[in-house]
Amino acid sequence: MIKQETITQIRDRASIVEVVSDYVTLKKAGRNYMGLCPFHSEKTPSFTVSEEKHIFHCFGCNAGGGVFQFLMRIDQLSFPEALERLAKRYGIVIEQSERGSAARQAGERETLYRIKERAAANYEKVLASHAEGKWARDYLKNRGV
Ligand code: ZN
Repeated sequence: MIKQETITQIRDRASIVEVVSDYVTLKKAGRNYMGLCPFHSEKTPSFTVSEEKHIFHCFGCNAGGGVFQFLMRIDQLSFPEALERLAKRYGIVIEQSERGSAARQAGERETLYRIKERAAANYEKVLASHAEGKWARDYLKNRGV
């Protein structure tokens, strides 16, 4: 079980701009960074990263989330794998407590948290059409929402 504090600590310590820059050439645009989206093919950048908010978002394909979601999606990592990679990179020790499956739960919380952060319009669109939304839809269904 990975503690929620550890997850928060990793998220806060990790620079999403730095992590995304390994995959995407980013240019500063105002308070954000922009680049060509790695999740869909495009010629004009619609992929934005906000260091302040620790999130990325693509206006073209609606991909979005935090640094964990970015790694999970681009390198097909599980949530614990994404955590581990960032922990290593930023020199954070992952504290484990005894029971398992909490990392997965934390991952679910993290995803829901990100989904809730999105604007309502995006939310519905993601839930309704985006592949990424499928997981959330199933989750919400299981929760009886
Ligand atoms: Zn995109």
